[in-house]
Amino acid sequence: MNQFDVVIVGTGHGGAQAAIALRQNGFAGTIGMIGRDREPPYERPPLSKEYLAGDKPFERLLIRPEAFWGEKAITLILGQSVTKIDPEAKEVILGSGDRIGYGRLIWAAGGDARRLSCPGGHLDGVHAVRDKRDVDALLADLADGAQHFVVIGGGYIGLEAAAVLRKLGRKVTLVEAQDRVLNRVAGEELSRFYQDEHTRQGIELRLGVGVERLTGATRVESVVLANGEAIACDGVVVGIGIVPAVGPLIAAGAAGANGVDVSELCHTSLPHIYAIGDCAAHANVWADGAVIRLESVQNAHDMATTAAKAICGEKQPYAAFPWFWSNQYDLKLQTAGLSMGHDQAVLRGDPASRSFSVLYMKDGRVIAVDAVNSTRCYVQGRKLIEARVEVDPADLANPDVVLKDLR
Ligand SMILES: Cc1cc2nc3c(=O)[nH]c(=O)nc-3n(C[C@H](O)[C@H](O)[C@H](O)COP(=O)(O)OP(=O)(O)OC[C@H]3O[C@@H](n4cnc5c(N)ncnc54)[C@H](O)[C@@H]3O)c2cc1C
Repeated sequence: MNQFDVVIVGTGHGGAQAAIALRQNGFAGTIGMIGRDREPPYERPPLSKEYLAGDKPFERLLIRPEAFWGEKAITLILGQSVTKIDPEAKEVILGSGDRIGYGRLIWAAGGDARRLSCPGGHLDGVHAVRDKRDVDALLADLADGAQHFVVIGGGYIGLEAAAVLRKLGRKVTLVEAQDRVLNRVAGEELSRFYQDEHTRQGIELRLGVGVERLTGATRVESVVLANGEAIACDGVVVGIGIVPAVGPLIAAGAAGANGVDVSELCHTSLPHIYAIGDCAAHANVWADGAVIRLESVQNAHDMATTAAKAICGEKQPYAAFPWFWSNQYDLKLQTAGLSMGHDQAVLRGDPASRSFSVLYMKDGRVIAVDAVNSTRCYVQGRKLIEARVEVDPADLANPDVVLKDLR
C-alpha cells in the first residue's frame, strides 16, 4: 500500500496550489496527488474561452510544466477516482480497490457538472463544460460540422460557451429558466447589458422558460421547452451549475449540506482532513460571515494556501478577498467582492460605451463591483470595498468623481 504524509484528492486549481504551497512553505514530507483527470493539473477557465475557441493549445493550460511535479517530489496518481475514505485507518480507497494511506488529507475534488434531469438529457451531442474531455467532445462535434447549438443555462459558463460558438460562426439559441441571465451572480443592469450584447451578436435568447425534454434517437435533434417550443439542433451545451464532489467525505461522516463544511483553517469535521475550493462551505468574512461556497480560481487558490500553511504549523484564517473574471467577445468582466445581499446597485458609466461598472452597496458601503472593460474601476472599486467606508451613491454614479478619492 502506498502511503504519503499528505494526500491531495483532486488535481485542479485547489489541489495543485495546495501541493505548490506546501513545498513553498518548507514542507519536506511526501505528497501524493490523486486525480480523476488523466492530464497533469491544468486551468479550467480557458476551457469555455480560448481552448474552445482554438486560440490556446492544451499545453498552455498546464498549471506547471509536466516536469515540475517530479522535480518537487510530488507524486501524481492520475486517471484514478477516490471512492471511499476510511478516517479510522487514515486511508483513501480508489475505484481500482487500491488503498492509499495519509497523514493529512486535503480534499480538493471540486464539483461535477450538473446534468439535465429531463428526458433525453443523456443523448449523444449533449455536452457539459467542466473538464478537458467534455470540451474535446464538443470540439469533435464542431469538427464534424455541427451548426446549430442550444446552450442551456445563462450563467458565466453558458454565456462564455455561447459567445465562442457564435464566434466560430455557429447558430446559437440560449435558454435560461430565470427571467434574466446571470440572475444568481449579478444585478439587473449587468444582466440586461449581456443579454443585449448576445442578442446583438446574433444569439437567440429564450428567458424565463425551462426545458421539458430533449428528443432524438441516439443523438440529440431538438430541445423542447416548457412552453411547447421545439428548437431543432445538432448539439446542446449544458451549463447549469455543479454538484459539489463530496460523496466519499460525507459518507465517511464529514459535516456538510451544501458541499462540506470547513473551519477558518479549511479543516473539515473529520480529524486530519481539510477541504478546499469549489466543494468547501465556509463562513466568508466578505459576506458578513454567511456560510457559502465560492466557485472561483481565487477561492481555490487561497484556500489551498490556508490549508497548506495550517499543515506547516502556520494558523492563518481564511479571509482572502474574493475576485472573479469572465471573458465574452471583446468584453472583459472583472468582479471584486460579493454582491449577495446588496440593497442598492449603482451604475457608473454608460453601458453603450462598452466600458462601465456596477457598484453594489449594502448599508451605505460598497460591497462589490462588476467592471466591464474598466480595469481602473475594478482596481479602485476593490480598494473602496476593502476600506469599508460609507459613500454617497451619487458620487459613485458620477464619472467625474474619482473612486479612489472616496476612501
Ligand atoms: C469552463 C469553466 C470556466 C471557468 N471560468 C472561470 C473564470 O473565468 N474565473 C474563475 O475565477 N473561475 C472560473 N471557473 C471556476 C474555476 O475553474 C473553479 O472554481 C476552480 O477550478 C475550482 O478549483 P477546485 O480545485 O476546487 O476544483 P477543480 O479545479 O474542478 O478540480 C477538482 C479536481 O478533482 C477531481 N476529482 C473530483 N472527484 C474526484 C475523486 N473522487 N477522486 C479523484 N479526483 C476527483 C476532478 O477531476 C478535478 O480534476 C471556471 C470553471 C469552468 C469549468
